[in-house]
Amino acid sequence: MKPSLLVLVACSLIATTLCAAEPAPRFRAGAATSVITPPLGRPIVGNFIAPLSTNVHDELHARCLVLDDGKTKLALAVLDLLGTEVGMCAETRGLIEKQLGIPASNVLISAVHTHSASSTGGKAPAPAEPEYENYRAFVVQRIVDGVRCAVNRLRPAQLACVTAEVPEHVFNRRWFLKPGTMPPNPFGGIDQVKMNPPPGSPNLVKPAGPTDPTVTILALREPNGRPIAVYSTYALHYVGGVPKGDISADYFGEYCRQFERLLDARDLDPPFVAMMANGASGDVTSTDRREPQPPMEPYAKMRRVAETIARRVHAVLAKAEYQDHVALAARFRERTIARPMPTAERIAWAKERLTKPGPRPDQVDLSWSYAHRITDMATREAQVSVPLQVLRIGPACIGTMPGEPFCEIGLEFRQRAAMQPAVLVEWAHGGFGYIPTAKHFDWGGYETWLGSCAFEPHGSEKLLDTLLEMVAEVRDVK
Ligand SMILES: [Zn+2]
Repeated sequence: MKPSLLVLVACSLIATTLCAAEPAPRFRAGAATSVITPPLGRPIVGNFIAPLSTNVHDELHARCLVLDDGKTKLALAVLDLLGTEVGMCAETRGLIEKQLGIPASNVLISAVHTHSASSTGGKAPAPAEPEYENYRAFVVQRIVDGVRCAVNRLRPAQLACVTAEVPEHVFNRRWFLKPGTMPPNPFGGIDQVKMNPPPGSPNLVKPAGPTDPTVTILALREPNGRPIAVYSTYALHYVGGVPKGDISADYFGEYCRQFERLLDARDLDPPFVAMMANGASGDVTSTDRREPQPPMEPYAKMRRVAETIARRVHAVLAKAEYQDHVALAARFRERTIARPMPTAERIAWAKERLTKPGPRPDQVDLSWSYAHRITDMATREAQVSVPLQVLRIGPACIGTMPGEPFCEIGLEFRQRAAMQPAVLVEWAHGGFGYIPTAKHFDWGGYETWLGSCAFEPHGSEKLLDTLLEMVAEVRDVK
């Protein structure tokens, strides 16, 4: 064999060996937003009176993030809505699987819980609106569009997982009051705990639960440092302070705008996407009730809250370390939980109440509202299938619950999850109402009333146990 041929054979052998060793798959990320603002003239949901929308203060979005480690793809969508609905989320996840090849179990859909948006729920409020279903179908399509655009923008990425502390805007909204000062509940009984008592009231004793000041942040950037997206969570119900009839994404949307401004990332192509999902905040408000609160201009408070969070996240991220190799995994499971069902005595109370006149359309009468809710609950199934999900994103994990878990459930998830950072995202894949812990049912109060809460008193413990099993499974994925 001539020397040149020897060299050729040796070279081709080396080349074959190099080809045999597959290059390590590159972690990629892409993000996009879709506008989901409803047409004006629909009810704004979230309070006992639902005024019709007359103005768009800021557009509502589905903010979408897609991650790909070469083996597994995840999609996360945060919706500027009051809540999500089980059927709508299942349908959307199914479409994403079918059209985009991301398994439905790997798609996380949650709502921020703004109280200035219209419902996508299948049930139209009276008088029934014939086109109500159209908004639901529109939102489904827009989420799929947003995820599709995020897939289109997948590019090599790095991840940083950090936390920031923002204790000054979270307050537990459930209070013990001085003996003899508790007003009766709509059923004529006396609770031990009151939701949102007047700020500065001399009757306040102490809050009935903790708060969670931690913002959990998953930041994605290109290897050259150009930002792609920031997925953030904070456990604050909403802020409000919105004029009647306004559509707004509350502080969640304002945080995204302020963060994009701070990062000087408003004109990037592909665009940078900031996201703020809601943590476990069923009992958490931005109002400090220990002192009387001065009135504020519309939107002033949510700007202040958003600015504090955006500044603190920005400061933490400036020092964050990013990693190139990110393992992804997902688990999705349904757990059957008993619903709280009305007793015969309570049903009789509701029927009796409904024989008497109701309030005027612009007035709230809780006994009337709850008599309706209880009558409705008596016709529903006694058990419900509850969707639960865990996503692993590098060292971090996200657990989800449908509806509004109390803050202490989120704190317990973070403490017991064997991955850090860990965060519980609420209003994911549907909603069944508030999710208090067992002791809160003994204390009573708005969130625990029949018609407000989702599950039987020990339901949250069962959901948490299942989520932690799922965390243990994704933790070991290489
Ligand atoms: Zn709420």
